[in-house]
Amino acid sequence: MIAEVIVDISNSEVDRIFDYSCSENLQKGSRVLIPFGNRKIEGYVIGIKETTSVPSDKLKAVCETLDDRPVIGEEMLELMRFMCSRYHLRVVDALRLFIPSQMRGGRIKELKKRYVRVADEFAKRERNEFIRPTAKTQQEVFDYVLNRAEVDTAYLGREFSAAAVRNLIERGVFEVFEKAERRTPYSEIVCSAQEYTLTEMQQNAVNAVCGSENENFLLHGVTGSGKTEVYMRCIADALKQGKTAIMLEPEISLTPQVLRNFRARFGDSVAILHSGLSAGERFDEWRRLLCGEARVAVGARSAIFAPLSNVGLIIIDEEHDGSYVSDSNPRYSTEEVAEFRARYNKCNLLLGSATPSVESYYKAKIGEYKLIEMRERIANRPLPEIEIVNMCEELRSGNNGFLSRRLKSELSDCMDNGNQAIIFINRRGYSSYVMCSSCGYVAKCERCDVSLVYHREEDVLKCHYCNNRYAPLDVCPKCRSPHLRQGYIGTQKVAELLKKEFPDKKILRMDNDTTQNKDAHLEILRSFGAREADILVGTQMIAKGHDFPDVTLVGIVDADMSLHFADYRASERTFQLITQVAGRAGRDVKKGRVILQTYTPNHYVYRLAARGDYVGFYEKENNLREVTKYPPYSKIVRILITSESEEDAFSVLKADFDDINVLARENGECFAYLSAMKSPVKRIQDKYRVQIIARIVKDFNRLIQKIYEITDSHTGGRTLCFVEINPSNMS
Ligand code: ADP
Ligand code: ZN
Ligand code: ZN
Repeated sequence: MIAEVIVDISNSEVDRIFDYSCSENLQKGSRVLIPFGNRKIEGYVIGIKETTSVPSDKLKAVCETLDDRPVIGEEMLELMRFMCSRYHLRVVDALRLFIPSQMRGGRIKELKKRYVRVADEFAKRERNEFIRPTAKTQQEVFDYVLNRAEVDTAYLGREFSAAAVRNLIERGVFEVFEKAERRTPYSEIVCSAQEYTLTEMQQNAVNAVCGSENENFLLHGVTGSGKTEVYMRCIADALKQGKTAIMLEPEISLTPQVLRNFRARFGDSVAILHSGLSAGERFDEWRRLLCGEARVAVGARSAIFAPLSNVGLIIIDEEHDGSYVSDSNPRYSTEEVAEFRARYNKCNLLLGSATPSVESYYKAKIGEYKLIEMRERIANRPLPEIEIVNMCEELRSGNNGFLSRRLKSELSDCMDNGNQAIIFINRRGYSSYVMCSSCGYVAKCERCDVSLVYHREEDVLKCHYCNNRYAPLDVCPKCRSPHLRQGYIGTQKVAELLKKEFPDKKILRMDNDTTQNKDAHLEILRSFGAREADILVGTQMIAKGHDFPDVTLVGIVDADMSLHFADYRASERTFQLITQVAGRAGRDVKKGRVILQTYTPNHYVYRLAARGDYVGFYEKENNLREVTKYPPYSKIVRILITSESEEDAFSVLKADFDDINVLARENGECFAYLSAMKSPVKRIQDKYRVQIIARIVKDFNRLIQKIYEITDSHTGGRTLCFVEINPSNMS
C-alpha cells in the first residue's frame, strides 16, 4: 500500500503530500517515521492508496509507526482541509494544532512504570536452588517480591539494590511488565456534586438546547444568571445520549474554581486542557480523550481541537472574549472552527455571554443563531448599581489626582464595614490617544469614528484603520483648554496611592508584572478570596468569572482608556469590560456598588452600561457599524508583510496592492475600503512591517481566495506575509 504523508517540517517548499510504501495495516491519521533526504523525520499519514506515480526505484518505505493508534481522526482531516482553505494555512501547521506539541519529536510519552513479579516456575522452587546463599541482597529482594502480585521496580531499586533486581530479571526469576501511569491535574479536587434546582429561566434555556439538534444558540445571560449550571445540564444531556462534549473558556477564567465544578459534576469523564498543566498532564488528558476514557473536554481556545469523536455539544463561554481569535500563527477563529465541528457532528453549538459580541448578537437578530435570554440574576439578586463620576468636574474643583472624592469616600465606607474592594485599571497594549482633561474631548477620525493615535516621530495624529493624518493639537478644539492629556495610569501608581490613603489596609496588585509566574495569578486570587487582603488592584485579568462574596465595591479608575483605544471595537470592549468588572460586585447576599470614573460621562457606552442595557447598546453600536461599514457589515482583511529589508517589504506591498486594487476595481460594490500603509508598529525584532487593509462588504468567500492567490504570487525570499480576517490586534 501507499501512504500519503505530510512531513513534520513547517516550510512552504515541503507543504505537499509525499508518497511512501507502507504495510497493509497502516491506518490513516497515524504518525510515522519516514526517511526524508538523508535523515529520518516524523510525518502524518493523511491518506492511504493502492498506487503511486512515483517510480518504484525512487519510492521509499515508512520506517515505523509512532503511536499505538491513529492520532488524527477522519473529522480532524476534514477540519484540516477546511482550515487550510479558509485561513490559508500550511497543512502541517493545521495538523500540529491537533496534537500536544510535546508529542512531536518524542519529547513526551505515556508514563510507563515497570513492575516485577516472581515467575511461576521459580515461585514453586526452593530459593537456594537458584540464589547463592552469599547473595544476601538478592535473597531479600526475592523474599519481598515472592508473595506480592506486583512491585514497582524503581521502589525495589531504592530500597534494596538495582543491581540485584537486574540480575534476577536477567535470569528470568522476575518477570517484568509495564503499566501506564496517569498524571492527573488538580487531583486534589474532591468530588462533591452540588446540583441546584434549576430556575425557570435556566430550565427554559436547557430545554431549548436539549430539544434541538444541529443548531447554533446564543445564550445572553446577565452576570450571575447561572449560565454555568445551564452548560453543565446540557453537557450531562449529551453524555446521557452516549455523546461527547467540548466546553471552552477564556484561558484566564479557567480557575481552579471552574475546574473543581466540572470535576465535581462529571468526575473522571472530564479532561482538562490548558496551558497551566505540565506537559505530561496535558498529554495524558489528551490521550484519555483520544481513547474515549474521557468524554468532556474543558479548556481554553486550543481545546476546540480536542480529539473527541461523536461530539454532541460544543460550548463557548464568554464568547465575546478576544482570546478566541488567534493572532499569531496559525491564525484562525475558534468560533468558525467550532461551527465546522458542530456541523460535521450535526450537534448544537452554544455560545454564552453577558455581553455578546456585536457580531454574534447580529447573527442572533438575523436568525443565524437562536437567541436565549436570561435577564435576571439567580435568587433575584440585584445587579450592582453603577455610578458615573465626572473627572472633568473633579479637575475643576481642584482635585487633579486619579481618585475622585466619591470613590475615596466609598472606599472608606467599604473598609469601615469590613468588606473588600476591587480597583480596576483599564489598560490595553500601548495607547496614546489625546484627550482634553477639561471637557473630555477626544480626537477621532472623521471617517471611521475611531480614536486617533499620536505618532511622535512624524508629529501627526493618525487613524490606524484608514491611515488618515491630522495635525497634532495644542489646545482643545472644543473648549480651547490647553490641558491635553496622553498616556495612562499604572497599577503600581494606584496601589501606592491607596497604600497612603489606607495605611492599615492590605493591598494586592495583579497585572502583567506580578503574574509572570505560571500560577501567580491563581495565587493572588486565592489570597484575595481568603481575605488576606482588603483591596485588589488590577487590570483586565481581574474582570473574569471570580466569585468573591465580600466584595461590595468596584472602582473603575480610568474607564476611558479602552474607550479611546484606536480600535473599531473600542466601545464594545468598554461596554463588555464595565459589565464584567461590575459583575464582580455583590455576587452574594451583600449588595454591590460600582464607581466609574470618566472624562466623558455622557458617552452612550457609560449611560447604557450603567443601566445594564445591553440591547440598547447593541442597537446604537450596530447602527454605527452599518454607517461606517465595519463588522458585521463587512469583514476586515489585514495583509501584514514583514521583512528584514525595508525595500523588500515595500516592493511586496506594492505588488500585492496593485493586484488587489485591480480586484477591487473589478468588484467595486464589494470593497468598502482599501489602502496600503506602514503598520502602527513599524518594526518588531528588526523586521519592518507594512500592511494592506481592506474592508469587504460582499462576496467575501470568493474574494479572500483571490487575495490569497495574489499574496502567494508575491511572497518568498525574505519577506513573510500573513493574511488576517477581523484581527483582534491591529498593531
Ligand atoms: P454566570 O456564569 O451567569 O455569571 P454563575 O454560573 O457563576 O453565573 O452563577 C452565579 C451563582 O449562582 C453561582 O454561585 C452559582 O453556583 C449559583 N447558582 C446557579 N444556578 C443556581 C440555582 N438554580 N439555584 C441556586 N443557585 C444557583
Ligand atoms: Zn476641551
Ligand atoms: Zn479612519
